[in-house]
Amino acid sequence: MISTDIRSLNYNELSEALEGYSLAKFRIGQIYSWLYEKGVLDFDEMTNLPKPLRENLKKDFTIKNCRIDVKQKSKIDGTVKYLYELDEGEYVECVVMKYKYGYSICISTQLGCKMGCKFCASAIGGFKRNLTASEMLSEIYTAMHDLDVRISHIVLMGTGEPLDNYVNVRRFLELVTDEKGLNISMRHISLSTCGIVPAIYKLADEKLGLTLSVSLHAPFDELRSRTMPVNDKWHIAELMEACKYYTEKTSRRISFEYAMISGVNDSRECAERLSELLKGMLCHVNLIPVNNVRENSFTKSNDKSIKSFMDILEKNGLTVTVRRTLGSDIDASCGQLRAKKL
Ligand code: SAH
Repeated sequence: MISTDIRSLNYNELSEALEGYSLAKFRIGQIYSWLYEKGVLDFDEMTNLPKPLRENLKKDFTIKNCRIDVKQKSKIDGTVKYLYELDEGEYVECVVMKYKYGYSICISTQLGCKMGCKFCASAIGGFKRNLTASEMLSEIYTAMHDLDVRISHIVLMGTGEPLDNYVNVRRFLELVTDEKGLNISMRHISLSTCGIVPAIYKLADEKLGLTLSVSLHAPFDELRSRTMPVNDKWHIAELMEACKYYTEKTSRRISFEYAMISGVNDSRECAERLSELLKGMLCHVNLIPVNNVRENSFTKSNDKSIKSFMDILEKNGLTVTVRRTLGSDIDASCGQLRAKKL
């Protein structure tokens, strides 16, 4: 018999799955709390349950866990990067960053990625599979236990395309925001997408209240298609329509991510076109000096180009920030550690 992945069940499903156990209601509450609030890694840690019950649970269910394979801590800013092993030979990475407001974790949503963005280390080695909700949760619990901190903010910006794994990501969001679980506010969660248009409409209709980040990286179709194959499927105009729909439905500001690549997308013309595209939209632009990835030849724009680019956007009325680089001494950008391991 295949044992059920217990940390993917919501409260009602857990109650149903435990029907045969004829447990008092408070016991189900205890189990739920161990799983989701405390995030135990093993049934034996559920110390207020009778031993025979724990033994039965072990027979019928599994708790998906991550084993820490590599841990790197930045000497510059304390950012911690993990490479976890899931099942044998399967590696996933996540990053924990400390901010004034608390700890934020950047998690992966897939093993590898199908999207093939040319500047991204996650594309190296292709796509293996989607992560389950329990695996995404265990990225968080493993880091929390290891660092002994409470994590209050989540960004779905690690390896993978979250909107290409909609069902599991949706379940993850339900579980991680549950009051009886980690109780992380949707307002403290950001989801980053390369622009899967139908899924943006779907997400908008759910009105979850999370922050949507859209990886735009170029304001012209021809240029965007050169670095982001997803653009051949949904052009910039279609993506912008979906983004407008999202802001209208949710009244939430979209964050447009723009990786500044020297000589590729950092011209004056790009800045002017980007300003036209985003004019009047409820949004914010985040400029990211592209991280050098060993396997490709892109280099980051220099400070002067970034400053002029930013000035043009601001002159045109946009709100702009330049992303602070964290963990630059520990390969902290997407997929770098995993790519190295593979
Ligand atoms: N698939 C999602 C989320 C994962 S990537 C997405 O595309 O948004 C998270 C962010 O990092 C994206 O904005 C992505 O374009 C960006 N990114 C990837 N490689 C990068 C690099 N080498 N330098 C800077 N940003 C990068």
